[in-house]
Order: sequence, then C-alpha cells, then structure tokens
Amino acid sequence: MKPIPYGKQSINQDDIDGVIEVLHSDYLTQGPKIAEFEQKFAEYIGCKYAVAVSNGTAALHLSALALDVKSGDKVITTPITFVASANCVLYCGGEIDFVDIDQNTFLMDLDKLEEKLASNPQGTYKGIIPVDFTGLPIDTERLKKIANKYKLWIIEDACHAPGGYFKNSNNKTIYCGDGQYSDLSIFSFHPVKHIATGEGGMITTNNEELYKQLLLLRTHGITKSPEMLQENHGGWYYEMHELGFNYRLSDLSASLGITQLKRAKEGLQRRKEIANNYFNAFKDSPIKMQKVNNNFSNAFHLFVIQVKNRLELYNYLKSHNIFSQIHYIPVHLQPYYKNFGWKNGDFPIAENYYNECLSLPIYASLSTKEQDYVINTVLEFVK
Ligand SMILES: *Cc1c(COP(=O)(O)O)cnc(C)c1O
Repeated sequence: MKPIPYGKQSINQDDIDGVIEVLHSDYLTQGPKIAEFEQKFAEYIGCKYAVAVSNGTAALHLSALALDVKSGDKVITTPITFVASANCVLYCGGEIDFVDIDQNTFLMDLDKLEEKLASNPQGTYKGIIPVDFTGLPIDTERLKKIANKYKLWIIEDACHAPGGYFKNSNNKTIYCGDGQYSDLSIFSFHPVKHIATGEGGMITTNNEELYKQLLLLRTHGITKSPEMLQENHGGWYYEMHELGFNYRLSDLSASLGITQLKRAKEGLQRRKEIANNYFNAFKDSPIKMQKVNNNFSNAFHLFVIQVKNRLELYNYLKSHNIFSQIHYIPVHLQPYYKNFGWKNGDFPIAENYYNECLSLPIYASLSTKEQDYVINTVLEFVK
C-alpha cells in the first residue's frame, strides 16, 4: 500500500490545461482570472462579495484590519483551531481570549461564550472568531443573537467548511460563509483543504463597505478609482489611503481555483461518503466520534476520532504507512501563547479533547480500497 496522508489535493487535466492557458496569456497576476474566481466562489458559497487573497492567514489578517481591530481590542476564539485564527488579532495589536469547546461537537461552546460575556462589563470584547471546525457549521444564528446583544462583530473561520450548512429556526438553509449572520468569513485553498490553489484564500461578505475596504487593503491601501481620488495628476496617478499589504492571489492560482470549483460539489459528496463509512465501521467500537445535531451538515475537511491510547494508535498507523494527523494542539498551550499567562487547565474540555483526538485520512481521491485498509488497521489496533 502506498503512503496514505490525512489529506491531499486532487489535480486533473482540466486544472493543468487552465494553468497552461494562463502561462500563455498576458497576465500572471492582476488579470481576469481573479474576478472570475471571486464571482464563481461567491456563487458557490451563496454570498454577495468575495475577495481573493494570497492565503487563509492573509484573509484573517485583512478581515481583522477591515473591522478595525487595534491596540487593546479583545477578541474571542476557540482553542481548538489553527493558530492563525488567533494570530490575526495579535497582528493588529489586539488581545485574544478563548472560550472552551463543547465535548460533543468540538466547536466553541456557546453557553460558555454567553457566560463569559455576561460576567464581563459590556464593551470588554469587540468581536468573535468562531471556527467551523472539521467542516461542521457553528450555529451562527444563535451566535448572531449573542453578538448583537454584546455589540460584537463575527469573523467566521470557514476554512474547513465550504459546502457545510445548517437549517435555521425558520428551516432556511444557511451555508458556511454565506454572510447571513457573519460580517466576514474566510477560506483557505491550501492543498489539504477542499479547493486547492497551492496557496490561496478568500474572504466572503454581504457588506459592501467592508468589501470595498478589503479590496483597498489587499493591495497596499492604494486606489486608482477616480471617484475616490483626492487629486488627479493624470493617467498614472494613484493614492494610498490606508496602510495595506500585498496579499494578492496570482492568476495561476485563481485559474486552479476556477477549475477546482467545478468539482467542489463532487468532492464534498465523496468526503461525506467517506465519513459515513467511518461512522458505520466504528459505531460499535470504543472509538468516540463527533456527535452532531441533525440540522447540521458537516463538510468534512477532517474526520476526527478519539481514543485513549492516541499516541500508540498514531505510531501504529504510521508503521502501516497511514499518516494520520492531530487537529489541533490547543492554541493557548503553544509556548508563544503561554507567555501571555495561559496554562494547562485553563480550558479542560479542549485539553482532554487534544489528548485523545486523531484525524483519519479523508479526501476526494481516497479510494474505497485505501479507506478499507485504514478502517481495518484502526480496528486491528483497537482490538
Ligand atoms: C488552513 C487554516 C487556516 C490558514 O490558512 P492558510 O491558507 O494556511 O494560511 C486558518 N484557519 C483554519 C481553521 C485553517 O484550517
């Protein structure tokens, strides 16, 4: 059996042809593929605006800037996420706080969020960065009510969740990143994610003002739009209005995004099948899995199991050429974050989760034969 990673891209001839076409064109960057990718992605997600950027971390950074995070501002996220969800606030000089996870869904516990907000003076926090961890949507309908009460903005980290959805209280379908309840949502196109562009990211929103601000910040805070200029010296003239960055995506990457997007639904369906196979294979074993309310549909970037002897299972799988992964080491326990005073015991549910979690291979091109091999190897170990 060839090595089986926990996640990987799937590239076909259509992807390759698209990139070659860009190589032969006039634009390697700042060309027409960007707007085309943005428009198609917005359509797929079901939102008004999408802004393509160089990676998911840049998407988080620009989102925090667009919402005006500055020195002293406090923002809440979950400890079970990639470090970038927290780092983006620090980039802007803000402070990060955490709320523990729910032991069934592994997502931020919204009861605990409410407790934290209620036990602090109004105005202590500016915003919240929930994560659709594994691809499971956080209940943004409830989150929005909480956010309104405490005047918080929401950046939804939907990196795991393109195509994830839930039914709200009116039985309406709410897609991750569709901007119904979140101010901004962000996605990543790293090769292990649903859509692979090498490096790449996207911010989605229904808010026109934030959209315009993001376009400006993505490219140095520079504008050439005649209606925005304070002066005009001629055709070459531009003005810098904000301290922005170069967080642009190249047309090569955008082309990959466009062709990958055509297969996104198919890939999502395959991920759901794989997840379903794992559920059925392990349901009568001592292996614990995510417990989810029926109204929520997971996009399955990850398939997480929990076992007592996790390190042994990890090593056992590795010795059988199966490369599982751990998502995530709690952010507050990273040495950099411990410098701020966070310590073991601060978020016990997240810490217990970390001790037992393991992500099994899941990606569109994982074959049934390969998955059966993974399942049998896991079951062999558990016995
Ligand atoms: C992948 C990921 C990011 C960062 O995306 P990059 O494109 O690697 O910068 C942020 N948050 C979460 C939850 C992710 O999975």
